[in-house]
Amino acid sequence: MNRTSILLLSGLLFASVLPSQSPNRIARPIPYPLPTTKAWEKAIQNGTRTTKGIPGPNYWTNYTQYKIDAELEPGTAKVRGHVEISYENRSPKPLRRIVLHLRQNLHKEGSVRNRFVEITGGVETSNIQVNGKKPGKRMVQVRGTVMTIRLAESLKPQSKVRISMDWNYRVPNLGAPRNGQDDHHVFWIAYWYPQVAVYDDVNGWVAEQYMSNAEFYMDYADYEVNFKAPQGFIVRCTGELQNPKEVLTKTEIKRLAKARKSHETVHILTEAELKAHKATRKSKKGLTWRYKAKRVRDVAISVSDQYIWDATHAVVKDQKGKGRDGLAMIHALYRPRAKAFQRAAEYGQHTIEYMSQKVYPYQWPHMTACEGIIGGGMEFPMMTICGGRGSSVLGVVTHEIIHMWFPMLVGSNEKAYAWQDEGLTSFFTNLTTSHFRTRNRSKDLQSKLRNRRRRRGHGRFFSMEEFAPIMRHGDRFPGRGTYSIMSYMKTSAVLGQLRSMIGDEAFFRAFREYVAAWAFKHPLPMDFFATFNRVTGKNLDWYFREWFFENWKLDQAILSVKPGNQETVVQVGDLQYASMPMEVQVQYKDGKKETKTIDIEYWLSGRKEKTLHFGTDVVQVLIDPQNLTLDINRKNNLWKAQ
Ligand SMILES: [Zn+2]
Repeated sequence: MNRTSILLLSGLLFASVLPSQSPNRIARPIPYPLPTTKAWEKAIQNGTRTTKGIPGPNYWTNYTQYKIDAELEPGTAKVRGHVEISYENRSPKPLRRIVLHLRQNLHKEGSVRNRFVEITGGVETSNIQVNGKKPGKRMVQVRGTVMTIRLAESLKPQSKVRISMDWNYRVPNLGAPRNGQDDHHVFWIAYWYPQVAVYDDVNGWVAEQYMSNAEFYMDYADYEVNFKAPQGFIVRCTGELQNPKEVLTKTEIKRLAKARKSHETVHILTEAELKAHKATRKSKKGLTWRYKAKRVRDVAISVSDQYIWDATHAVVKDQKGKGRDGLAMIHALYRPRAKAFQRAAEYGQHTIEYMSQKVYPYQWPHMTACEGIIGGGMEFPMMTICGGRGSSVLGVVTHEIIHMWFPMLVGSNEKAYAWQDEGLTSFFTNLTTSHFRTRNRSKDLQSKLRNRRRRRGHGRFFSMEEFAPIMRHGDRFPGRGTYSIMSYMKTSAVLGQLRSMIGDEAFFRAFREYVAAWAFKHPLPMDFFATFNRVTGKNLDWYFREWFFENWKLDQAILSVKPGNQETVVQVGDLQYASMPMEVQVQYKDGKKETKTIDIEYWLSGRKEKTLHFGTDVVQVLIDPQNLTLDINRKNNLWKAQ
């Protein structure tokens, strides 16, 4: 048993046994330090990580270059491709094997999954070569969605290995997770090519099975993608289009140039033009769309002959350095019947501009939002697919685009720590959509609307009896409901509570420093937590322990109010295990208010009650007057004189 599990186990025992057995001695559990692992401690010794939330001086990531030539045959939904991979070992250790993902094997008979999926047969690979040679027998092994290639000779530090292969698969029908095709007209090509797994400084190869629920962990790479489709099918891809003149019409090219200058939405392809077969240049043999992308963790492709196309651009503040703004093109592609998408380009523009100012400048040349295929939305570098209708399009498009920061820019491990991208993204989605809705209103109204939204409460995750804290692997939650509520809603609410405790200035500075330090890198939860400790100059480990590692609840309460001739004695209590500083506000008969705050240290010392003294003529006592904490029972927060 390693140290982590001992810590976790003793934490459980402590929480469940001690308070009931010796209620007088210790009234509540005192949060343990955050758990650590041997691998983490070793990384600190090696100087790749620090305890400060910034990468160590010896931090490295491995790097890959992909050259992909592929083709889609819409009639059969077959994708066939050839990939040439150049993988550079920047770690200090020689590598004896290279591990790749073949994620379409999720759809292969016999793969391990946590939901029902269509069986397509998965991926067929052939002509595998390593450094130009066919690998020996038993050197290549495929298990489920993971392919391992043992190298004849170890890959030394600072050297590269070349791997190439042909592959093909059938794009699954509607209903598949995060990719698929709709009636052979709308295709979302994703998790579609052999991708090298992450080899990182803490855990080495991290190549878990793709079982459909938990998401991904990907390394940064450069891509050259040449993708062939029949004429009439518009192909949008992660990266920059290299040959617009060979694939787009003159009108489209002219309008794209206009969108580059216009902050309004420009129609690149209208419904009438789509019907008149003017979506692409003409070529009976098909068209090859050439894209190049730099420093991205994946590539996804949209292919359709039913989309119309809008575009505009976003001004990216400080993209090229302080005071030097850049520009990102914004594209929206959708079927004419999806009316809610008519504003998608505007939503995309707003999100890129808002997040660039608030957190970190957007790093890539475009952002493309496509419509259809899936129920909710899904994010890919520079690309999103959303099936949303009506008013949900604003929320979903915004959410998926905020993923360009988490995890596209800050490359956390989504599989093991879903909250680290979904929770952060959900938090900023609330902020960004509420800014969009209220940006033209007065500051006063803005803050009123914000508070009303806060007051709606977060009852759902508190009513869940299943024991599952936020800090849990994405494939190991008791159910999809718990997974979503913990990773999205609870994390977002817990971040909101943290913001109210440490204040906007420190909170957003911590976020900006976290993103700046970990852009194009792989932070672990410890790096995130340590950033907040460093920026605030406080040890907030208790907060992260209580709210991320435990499933504890908070219930601040007024126990009694005793009005007297000399003073009013107010007894307050903290009834559950989780703790927060407590703000107690009394209101006197003459309308004056007085507030006393009980510091967190008081509760962390194990106490559950405190007596406060106020003046006479108190007419009301209220705990947490601004509604900032995640208190599960607000009824006991208020006392009024009879
Ligand atoms: Zn998301």
